Amino acid sequence: MIFQTRRGKMRQIPVRALALAILGAMAAFSSGTAHGKAAEGTKMPLLPSKQIAIVIDDFGNGMKGTAQMLNLPVRLTVAVMPFLPTTKQDAQAAHAKGHGVIVHMPMEPVRGKASWLGPNAILTSLPDEEIRRRVETAIDDVPYAVGMNNHMGSKATADERVMRIVLQVCKEKGLFFLDSRTSYKSVIPKVAKEVGVPLLRNDVFLDDVYTARHVSRQLDVVKQKLEKKENCVVIGHVGPPGLITSGALKSAIPQLERDAKFVLLTELLPPEAVRSAR
Ligand SMILES: [Zn+2]
Repeated sequence: MIFQTRRGKMRQIPVRALALAILGAMAAFSSGTAHGKAAEGTKMPLLPSKQIAIVIDDFGNGMKGTAQMLNLPVRLTVAVMPFLPTTKQDAQAAHAKGHGVIVHMPMEPVRGKASWLGPNAILTSLPDEEIRRRVETAIDDVPYAVGMNNHMGSKATADERVMRIVLQVCKEKGLFFLDSRTSYKSVIPKVAKEVGVPLLRNDVFLDDVYTARHVSRQLDVVKQKLEKKENCVVIGHVGPPGLITSGALKSAIPQLERDAKFVLLTELLPPEAVRSAR
């Protein structure tokens, strides 16, 4: 009604209508192309539907293979140990290159030297408050961290009291947890469910033996797993096997990319379960 009483508005109608028509056409065109409809008749290239998430552990101490891993031509999730000389540098470099970052939390193993654990490790002898404090400060020490996995931890991950505190802090800070599965006695699946922390699990360790032959055999295992399941979480390491593993990945990536898409761990989770990187 207002259009009939005000002359100025009368003149604007055709312009507005035209603009709306153009916008409408543009929206229809772009949504059509996004779904491949506008290109009906022409074949869209088929993208692989399977997903590989590569996680590389033990960043934070200037370990062998650090640069080679970060420069791989696919996206990785980089697990950085807290409180070490290159913790911040590695997390920042990984983030800048588009990789995902998680906290690689040192946790007590059944066997192994305490010196392999790194500073402020989670030990089963610690009281509740100290475990909480160590997990909180570890998360604060690793910039851009959106999740956590365990470094070693065959003893700590089998301890329900310890894991309940670790996972509770993850929940409070909005982090998901990746169970590296260093112990078949891991209580992580049960406790993560009770606490309500999004959980992922490792499918294949690439380099538990430090030879190129072993790593390429493990990459064959990844291919076999992807024939049966939709995605595969794969863990490798910087450090002693760093150059071997990064070299094997570099040569295997072109072929693996034909069958699967390399994704960040966060892409395997529902969007609402993912914290945005700080
Ligand atoms: Zn580790």
